[in-house]
Amino acid sequence: MAGIDSVLQEHRIFPPSEATIARATISGMAAYEALCKEASDDYAGYWARLAREHVIWKTPFSTALDEREAPFYKWFEDGTLNVSFNCLDRHLDNGNADKVALVFEADDAKVTRVTYRQLHALVCKFANGLKSRGIKKGDRVIIYMPMSVEGVAAMQACARIGAIHSVVFGGFSAKSVQERVVDAGATAIITADEQCRGGKNIALKSVVDEAFALGGCEAVHSVIVYQRTGNACAMQAGRDVFLGDLLAGQSEVCEPEWVSAEHPLFLLYTSGSTGKPKGVQHSSGGYLLHAILTNKWTFDLKAEDVFWCTADIGWVTGHTYIAYGPLACGATQIVFEGVPTYPDAGRFWRVIQDQKVTVFYTAPTAIRSLIKASDTTPTAHPRNYDLSSLRILGTVGEPINPEAWMWYYEQVGGSRCPVMDTFWQTETGGHVITPLPGVTPLVPGSCTLPFPGIQVAVVDEAGADVEWGKGGFLVIKRPWPSMIRTIWGDPNRFKTSYFPADLGGKLYLAGDGAVRDAKTGYFTIMGRIDDVLNVSGHRMGTMEIESALVSCSELVAEAAVVGRPDDLTGEAICAFVVLKQARPTGDAAKAIVKQLQDWVAKEIGPIAKPKDIRFGDNLPKTRSGKIMRRLLRSLAKGEEITQDISTLENPAILEQLKQSL
Ligand code: ATP
Ligand code: MG
Repeated sequence: MAGIDSVLQEHRIFPPSEATIARATISGMAAYEALCKEASDDYAGYWARLAREHVIWKTPFSTALDEREAPFYKWFEDGTLNVSFNCLDRHLDNGNADKVALVFEADDAKVTRVTYRQLHALVCKFANGLKSRGIKKGDRVIIYMPMSVEGVAAMQACARIGAIHSVVFGGFSAKSVQERVVDAGATAIITADEQCRGGKNIALKSVVDEAFALGGCEAVHSVIVYQRTGNACAMQAGRDVFLGDLLAGQSEVCEPEWVSAEHPLFLLYTSGSTGKPKGVQHSSGGYLLHAILTNKWTFDLKAEDVFWCTADIGWVTGHTYIAYGPLACGATQIVFEGVPTYPDAGRFWRVIQDQKVTVFYTAPTAIRSLIKASDTTPTAHPRNYDLSSLRILGTVGEPINPEAWMWYYEQVGGSRCPVMDTFWQTETGGHVITPLPGVTPLVPGSCTLPFPGIQVAVVDEAGADVEWGKGGFLVIKRPWPSMIRTIWGDPNRFKTSYFPADLGGKLYLAGDGAVRDAKTGYFTIMGRIDDVLNVSGHRMGTMEIESALVSCSELVAEAAVVGRPDDLTGEAICAFVVLKQARPTGDAAKAIVKQLQDWVAKEIGPIAKPKDIRFGDNLPKTRSGKIMRRLLRSLAKGEEITQDISTLENPAILEQLKQSL
C-alpha cells in the first residue's frame, strides 16, 4: 500500500501585513524558527521554560517530562496548581479585576456583562455549593448545560475543587447522556431547566430524567438545575436542587484544591465522525499551558481584544478557547447562546459589529452555510455590516475548502485579517498545526506549519517519513504537554488507537491523512484515514476532490465524497453534493452531474472524476457540524446503516439521500 496521492494545487499566497507583524507577540519567521530550534535543542527544557513563565504554580515542578511509562506520558507531575486559580484569581490583583471577562449574548440578543471579580465570586460560590453536596476531588460531574455564564462557571467550579467534569453537548439525546454518565461513572449532573436556541425553548432537565429512566445512573446523587427560563420542570426531592438555592448563602471565598499537574481536569467524548465516541482524558498543568500558549500565539490575544469563539462548551474548542484559555489570558470574550441563522443569517456579523469583536473563531461548516445563506438572502451578507473591528480570523473542525477560505478572508475579514486554519483534535488539547498571525504567509486550505515545539510529521504505513509532496499519515513524534492522557476506563484502546504497533508504537497517530507542500513544507489535511479512496491503485484523500467541487462556486455549496466498490477501478468515487439552488431532478440533474464531472476532471484530472453524483438538501453531520462520511459510504454501497449514529445531527437526511440513489 503506497502513500496517499495529492492531486490539487493551490498557488495563492497571503503574507502577513506589516501591521500584523508589528503587533504580534511572535513576530516574524525568525522568531518562530528560534522557538522551534529551542524545542529541538532541548525539548523538555523548552516546555519547562514556558510552563514556568505562563502558568502559576503553587509548588514548582522538578521534572518536565516523564517517559517511563510511555505512552502514558506525564508532564510537570510533581508541580501543583489549580486551573481555576490560574483563570480567575490571577486577575484579581493585576488590574484586571473589573475588566469584563464574559459578554453573554443571549438567543434573544439580550447582553449581560460579567467582570473577572464577579465571575470569581460566582465560581467560588458554585464550588462551595458543589462541596456542600459532597462532591470532591476526583469525582466525575456531567455538565449538560446551554451556552451560558453558568455553564462556564460550572466548569470552573469543578476545576476549583478538583472534580473532573465531562461536558455533554446540550443537543445530545437522553441515550448519549446516559452512556456518558455510565462510562464516566459520574455522581453528579449540572444541567438547566431549558435552553433557548433560535427562538425556541428546548428542554434539558427532562432529558436528564429520561437518561435516568434508561437505567445505570444510580450513582448520581445530585442534579443541579440552573433555571434558564424558569419554566416548570420535575424535581426529585433530595436529589435535584435548583442552582439558585444551592448558591444562596454560599461564601464567595473558596480556597482552591491544589492538585498535581497530572490530575485529570476533564473527560470529553470525541465527535464520533469515524466511530463510537471515545472518552478523552486531559491533565491540569500541561493542558492549561497549551491553552494559554495557543491563545496568546495563534490568536495573539492582547488586553484590548474582544475574542469570540462560536463553538459550544460541549466541544473541546469550547473548553480550550472559551472556558479556560481566554480566561487564563485575561481576555474579554463573547459567550453566545444562539444559532448563526437566528433571527437571520446576519447574526454573527451583527454581534461582531455591535460588540466590536477583534478575533473571531468559527468552523468551516458555519462558513459554508453562511455563504449559501448570504447568496440567497443578500441582506444577510457580511458586506452590510461594519466588521472593521476584526483583526484575526480562525477556523477549526474540518478542512476548509480554499473557496470557503477566500470568502471568509475577503468578505468577513475585508482582505485585511489573516485566517488561522487551526488543525487539532479533542485528543491534542489545543492547536498543533496552525499559522501564527505575525509569522506565516497563508495558503488557502493549508493549516501551514507546526505550532512551535510540536513535532508533527507525515509518515508511511511503516512509520517512516515520506518525502514532501507525497501524502501519508499525520503523526506527532514526541509527547507534548496537552496531549490526551488516556481513554477513560480503556487504557488498552488508548494504546492501540493512538500508538499503533505497526508504526513502531512510539508515534501518536492522529487518524488524518496529510501532505506537505513540496517547496514550503506546509501541511494540508487530506481527510481522515478511514475515508481514503482507492481508485485504480491511487489512494486519494477526500478533501481535495471535495474542494474541487466546492470551487465550482456558482453551483456548489458543499460536497462530500466517498468510495464504493467498483469492478473496474476497485473503488469508484461517489459525491454527495448540496447545490446553492434547489435540488434538481430529471434532465436538469443529469446536466449538472455532467457539468460537475467535467469540472473535476479539468480541475484535478480524470482519475478524480466522480462516477456518481447525488444531490441532497444537506449532508449527514455530527452535532458539531462535521460531515459523517462513514454513513455516506454505507449509503453509496446500498447497505443498511447499523453504525453508531448517536452524534448525528440530522437523521432525516439519510432517508432523503437514500431516495436520491
Ligand atoms: P471521532 O474521533 O470520534 O471520529 P472527531 O475526530 O470528529 O471524532 P474531534 O476531536 O472533534 O472529533 O475532531 C478532530 C478532527 O477534526 C481532526 O482529526 C480532523 O479530522 C478534523 N479537523 C479539525 N481541525 C481541522 C483543520 N483545521 N483542518 C482539517 N481538519 C481538521
Ligand atoms: Mg478523531
